[in-house]
Amino acid sequence: MNNLPVKRVVIVGGGTAGWMTAAVLARAMGASLEIRVVESDAIGIVGVGEATIPQIRNVNTFLGIAEDAMLKATGGTFKLGIEFNDWVREGHSYLHAFGEVGLPLGPLPFQHYWLRSRAAAAAPDLWAYSLNARAAGNHRMDRLERVGNTPVAGIKYAFHFDASLYGRMLRAYAEQRGVKRTEGRIVDVKLRGEDGFIEAVALESGKQIEGELFVDCSGFRGLLIEGALKAGFEDWRHWLPCDRALAVPSAPASPMRPYTQANARPAGWQWRIPLQHRTGNGHVYCSEHMSDDEAASILLSSLDGAALGEPRPIRFAAGIRRRLWLRNCVAIGLSAGFLEPLESTAIHLIQSGVSRLMALFPDRGFDPAVIEEYNRKVRQEYEQVRDFLVLHYRATERRDTPFWERCAALPAPEGLQRKLDLFRATGQIFREDDELFTEQSWLQVMVGQGILPRRHHPAADELPPAQLEEFLGTIRKVIGTAVERMPTHERFIAEHCASAQR
Ligand SMILES: Cc1cc2nc3c(=O)[nH]c(=O)nc-3n(C[C@H](O)[C@H](O)[C@H](O)COP(=O)(O)OP(=O)(O)OC[C@H]3O[C@@H](n4cnc5c(N)ncnc54)[C@H](O)[C@@H]3O)c2cc1C
Repeated sequence: MNNLPVKRVVIVGGGTAGWMTAAVLARAMGASLEIRVVESDAIGIVGVGEATIPQIRNVNTFLGIAEDAMLKATGGTFKLGIEFNDWVREGHSYLHAFGEVGLPLGPLPFQHYWLRSRAAAAAPDLWAYSLNARAAGNHRMDRLERVGNTPVAGIKYAFHFDASLYGRMLRAYAEQRGVKRTEGRIVDVKLRGEDGFIEAVALESGKQIEGELFVDCSGFRGLLIEGALKAGFEDWRHWLPCDRALAVPSAPASPMRPYTQANARPAGWQWRIPLQHRTGNGHVYCSEHMSDDEAASILLSSLDGAALGEPRPIRFAAGIRRRLWLRNCVAIGLSAGFLEPLESTAIHLIQSGVSRLMALFPDRGFDPAVIEEYNRKVRQEYEQVRDFLVLHYRATERRDTPFWERCAALPAPEGLQRKLDLFRATGQIFREDDELFTEQSWLQVMVGQGILPRRHHPAADELPPAQLEEFLGTIRKVIGTAVERMPTHERFIAEHCASAQR
């Protein structure tokens, strides 16, 4: 086996996946690697991907990208969660807020006390106990580690930003740390005779770029992983049937919401992402149930500002490559798989792919144990995100269109069914391994989608009623006071990170 170190890394693609991979590898291993990004200006990037989850802050911290400077440069805003409108039934709304809900007490998670309190008339809803939800509802934002000197956790936030401008920042960062860029269209992939490993990519110009490790960040086409290596694609459309999107920016709206909106539509849903200089909008829909024209007309008639262009069509299929790492090629980004942006997880999956690649960085022997572990962990993460997305569609009362009838009858993947059964029976939620979504996320989306357990944990009944009332009342009160003291989202941005784009 060849134990020589990998020296030359070729990253095919210069979208968010390509430049994030380049930036992280350069920061972590820059001195020992020659990293080259190959991208084609003529092909361009997919250019959507404006909403993130709090884990984005980890990559920024690792790279040393200052948050306010990043928000200024990308016209970014803060994101405290996602508001789901009309998913359960028309007129219904709930928030999947980041961060904690309530406080655990003794051995029990918070939801059991909240569930017990629901027996009382006019009991406050779950979100009365979420700092993020109440700040979002009041369009407030602040960087709070904790609520005063209480044990109540502070604000957990992510960002909305212009993905192309964020990509540009990552590119500048990577190039400053020695990453080389080649512009040009790849027309051929050269495989080694004896084992089918990739030796080089060939450009239209005739130039060949050789490497030992290839990272396929070529987007939906999967130029290396599928085009050359035929890894295969596992189609998940029977769980997630939406297969098209139309994206269009619109003039910015006021107040600037510190959360993403996901509004259900007759054959899909529509996102609304507030940036400082515009609002990003998109209509995700199922082509079996809606024509492109109808989807465009719904999108354009429900913007909250004037459209700033024509809707741009994007086609996709939910699913995952059968092998995400095959021979000396690792697929990261859209080349690895696609899950619709309902929970804004794609940039996180890029981050997570790069950090697993870092953790399992190979030598030229490409030990099968390394490749197996990568494939196992990354697949598991995609499956867990998929299950969480399916929950939103499946737990609906809507039967008003063929699309929603179909959603209500969707099969549940095994992991989702297990979580649903346990929650319904006991009110308990267990996070599996290093699963992305926390118990609190599952709780909010299950309760938000109208799923309630048959009982709470009997230990919650040990607390005398007056103490229960005091416990819950105190949490609501300290959160309420904290929110009142927070500046509005607009003011917070004006003071910390107003963009020149505005
Ligand atoms: C409708 C929609 C909405 C989304 N919303 C979100 C969101 O809110 N949040 C989120 O986190 N993610 C979102 N995503 C996902 C996000 O857009 C992507 O994960 C992200 O942009 C990364 O894309 P990429 O870099 O993998 O591919 P791309 O951006 O497509 O980049 C591919 C690169 O490969 C290059 N390339 C391809 N073929 C060749 C060739 N032959 N020769 C040379 N170069 C080549 C291209 O030039 C380009 O540089 C969304 C995706 C879609 C489709």
